[in-house]
Amino acid sequence: MSGALRVLPLGGLGEIGKNMTVLEYEDRIVVVDVGLRFPTAEMMGIDLVLPDFAYLRERAQDIEAIIVTHGHEDHLGALPWVLRELGEANVPVVYGGRLTMAMARAKLDEHKLTQTPLEELAPGDHATAGPFDLEMVHMTHSIPDACGVAVTTDLGTVLITGDYKFDQTPVDGIPADVGRLAELGRDGLLLLCGDSTNADRPGTSESESGVGPHLEDVFSRCEGRIVVTSFASNIHRVQQVVDAAAALGRKVVLVGRSMRKNVNIGSQLGHISIPEGLQVQPREAESFPDHKLVVISTGSQGEPLSALRRMAHRDHPQIRLKDGDTVVFSATPIPGNERAVNETIDRLYHIGCDVITARDAPVHASGHGYAEELKLMLNLTQPRYVMPFHGDFKRIHLHGRLAESVGIPPERIFKGENGLPLELDGRGARFGERERAGMIFVDGVDIGDVADVALRDRRMLSADGIFIVVATVSEQDGQSVAPPEVIFRGVPFMDEAGGLLDDIRDQVESSLARAAADEIHELDLLEQALHDDLAAFVYDRLKRRPMVLPVVVEV
Ligand SMILES: [Zn+2]
Ligand SMILES: [Zn+2]
Repeated sequence: MSGALRVLPLGGLGEIGKNMTVLEYEDRIVVVDVGLRFPTAEMMGIDLVLPDFAYLRERAQDIEAIIVTHGHEDHLGALPWVLRELGEANVPVVYGGRLTMAMARAKLDEHKLTQTPLEELAPGDHATAGPFDLEMVHMTHSIPDACGVAVTTDLGTVLITGDYKFDQTPVDGIPADVGRLAELGRDGLLLLCGDSTNADRPGTSESESGVGPHLEDVFSRCEGRIVVTSFASNIHRVQQVVDAAAALGRKVVLVGRSMRKNVNIGSQLGHISIPEGLQVQPREAESFPDHKLVVISTGSQGEPLSALRRMAHRDHPQIRLKDGDTVVFSATPIPGNERAVNETIDRLYHIGCDVITARDAPVHASGHGYAEELKLMLNLTQPRYVMPFHGDFKRIHLHGRLAESVGIPPERIFKGENGLPLELDGRGARFGERERAGMIFVDGVDIGDVADVALRDRRMLSADGIFIVVATVSEQDGQSVAPPEVIFRGVPFMDEAGGLLDDIRDQVESSLARAAADEIHELDLLEQALHDDLAAFVYDRLKRRPMVLPVVVEV
């Protein structure tokens, strides 16, 4: 494919999450972002979802660098798995902003991956990776050190914006580098791949620094304890919660592993400062009067094992919520998490807490620019071609419309999808042939697409439960020599199905007798026969299909 530049998204299009893009030129590769996605409720027992990066596995030797726009999980989270699968030796270097690389280091340490060099690339600095020149452009977002990535080859420059908003008054006082964006535009930007998350929201997003006063206002009306939950990586938000607490003479307690970890990294890098003496340890929390405390907690997305979820279930070792406490959700649910969040909120009401969400008061500001900000990006960078990124198909479509509205001809707007490469050369741009893309699941530390089977099993288990049947047969003639044991879990209607267990035992006996008569002695076959007979019998009686697991023991 010499002469052409390929931009191949492996994730992040037609979905929110697992952003990953391969840029290919002269057979060399740079990867921008390596994100993950959290599983939806149907993906039972699956811990994480990664982009299917089989394409990269085949091309591992051609990778010049990975570059990460910012430290959010949907851009950085898959890094340990990608490095492990590709082989650390095949990835010469990972670039990113300072905080991003500190967060990457913490992740890789947990996975005992220590070989890959992580290099800080400050905004404005350039790095060379094979035929590519890489540059970070500072943006504002809901995490410090968020950047766009400009990738330049002989053909021109591609700008992948990463997640951004144009915040004129960011908490750290460093707005997006509009000057550099305009320069890229003046020099003739070849392709803009922009964040579409809020393409459906008209107007302009709220500044992050506007949230602080609203938090303080809400706090001032609370008499009991206050718990604030937000993304742990939203370090500027945490700073504003700390400031509001300090202003009202309340101490702060940080709970949740990732909250403590991120605040730790953030304060080492100077992104957050907690005044001396303001912070108390979770174990000391109960000894402070209610009106003197603000708890800052993980769990804004209703994550199963998060601190807030545990508090809501009265299962947190240090913080016991009660009537009169107020819980503030300083975040909105990511699509897919609404149910878990609502469930957590309802639990909190059950305990007697007041709950304040972004619907009740402006206690949250999005990290993603709205329609007018996307237009501003388009006008600053004046790209020849546009490929909307980071959004479901609706938002990608709407982002395309915004591009048209600022005068970009429709034929230069490419509404892509995962696995569909955009090919650019001297003659123009067009979609190329589809490559493999999709999702792979992480279950614990294992990774694989075999999880289809595991998922089906789990769905079955969750809906209809399981029967385990242990039969004991004679080695000589296959006759049943002891009463079968039947164990069941999670099978609906079992209580009403009087005598069913006895019937199942009878069924096992007769099934075994038939198998013995047919001279089926091979254990596998015997178990198969038993399974088929029992599954049919149970379905007949319960109209359910629980998993049936026969275990045959020979004596
Ligand atoms: Zn993102
Ligand atoms: Zn982000």
